[in-house]
Amino acid sequence: MFDKILIANRGEIALRVVRAAREMGIASVAVHSTADSDAMHVRMADESICIGPPPGTESYLKIPAIISACEITGAQAIHPGYGFLSENANFVQIVEDHGITFIGPTAEHIRLMGDKITAKDTMKALGVPCVPGSDGGVPDVETARRLGAEIGYPVIIKATAGGGGRGMKVAHTEADIERAFQTARAEAKAAFGNDEVYIEKYLTTPRHIEIQVFGDGKGKAVHLAERDCSLQRRHQKVLEEAPGPVITPQERARIGKVCADAVARINYIGAGTIEFLYENGEFYFIEMNTRLQVEHPVTEAIFGVDLVREQIRVAAGEPLSFSQEDLRLKGHAIEVRINAEKLPNFSPCPGTISHFHAPGGLGVRMDSALYDGYVIPPYYDSLIGKLIVHGRDRPEALARLNRALGELIVDGVDTTVPLFSALLQEPAIQSGQYNIHWLEKWLEENLGG
Ligand code: ADP
Repeated sequence: MFDKILIANRGEIALRVVRAAREMGIASVAVHSTADSDAMHVRMADESICIGPPPGTESYLKIPAIISACEITGAQAIHPGYGFLSENANFVQIVEDHGITFIGPTAEHIRLMGDKITAKDTMKALGVPCVPGSDGGVPDVETARRLGAEIGYPVIIKATAGGGGRGMKVAHTEADIERAFQTARAEAKAAFGNDEVYIEKYLTTPRHIEIQVFGDGKGKAVHLAERDCSLQRRHQKVLEEAPGPVITPQERARIGKVCADAVARINYIGAGTIEFLYENGEFYFIEMNTRLQVEHPVTEAIFGVDLVREQIRVAAGEPLSFSQEDLRLKGHAIEVRINAEKLPNFSPCPGTISHFHAPGGLGVRMDSALYDGYVIPPYYDSLIGKLIVHGRDRPEALARLNRALGELIVDGVDTTVPLFSALLQEPAIQSGQYNIHWLEKWLEENLGG
């Protein structure tokens, strides 16, 4: 096992990794930009090192600075968290070339899944059901038009290098195809420096269901059921729950096995998430994330396992600490993403936290790096905390979430907390009958945003 690991991230996820490391008796090294000198992850880690000025490109994304920090502190491994360099195959290669262990999958697996066309081809070959669409990239409007007619409208044009909901455009009829194709391509070029796009059937009322998988890198893998992340704004997740309110035990066992078998066959190592759209009882693969997800705590809650600990274990060459049979799903968990954003437009709202009080009690977990007097810098993501509740069943989890939101105090900046309090009153949320478009429509009707 490692003696010391470095965490190439910030905020709540860096703190999350520090906590797992400490419980395992592993020393942790925090890296930070000059804007984060007083951040909680820096205070909580055993050591810290400044790696550059505030912009991510000059600090948290600066590979030479992170490698140097590792060499200076003698850290043997790097945990990337999510975002930043977590899915950068080039980074993983450099880390390994320096004799440092990357706590995550191999560069090859990241590359395979990072290109969405290759990912889809690979998954199809491994027996995973996919959204009907183009075989590979779509080079021009004429091809897009031909495929649109073949697949049937509506269709969605997506960037093969896509992520974060960018580079995606829907064409409802043939009249929209040219514009959708050109804008998706331009957006993809601007955001990812790669304008390759592909085309898929656009599912009109799906749910977003994702399967958590875990591989040991030696041909053994398990699944940890699904998370339902259908509550989205601009293709970004807002609330996640596990298990999915509409997934039956039979469906769970079936798709879970398909996913675990697929990653076992490619000798996948570490945590991964296979994302699907789910409609009329069918699962359609959309992409695989080769890292820990923001929403991993809901899975931890229902299985009672520590996924970060497991990531560190397999990276150190140890076996998974559980088998498929050991994993017994218990109760229901819900996570809400608390962002420093001003409603109704969700505009970022950095500033000083005058008072912070985290809720507590049975089945309540607050993952946050906030503290009284903390100054949220304007340079990074607006996620400032995640509130996760666990109950014996979904109604209990909902009641607990309502109670916990009532206890939470975040003074000094606007947050998305009022949104969740309002959502909990909605019959669709109470019954779990919502799809990926429900929230956008609700926001339009209720906030005019
Ligand atoms: P990203 O990597 O940018 O997050 P994804 O491929 O995971 O992109 O898609 C993000 C979201 O976009 C999905 O959760 C869903 O809401 C929507 N989406 C993607 N593909 C489709 C599709 N074929 N039909 C309907 N919605 C889609």
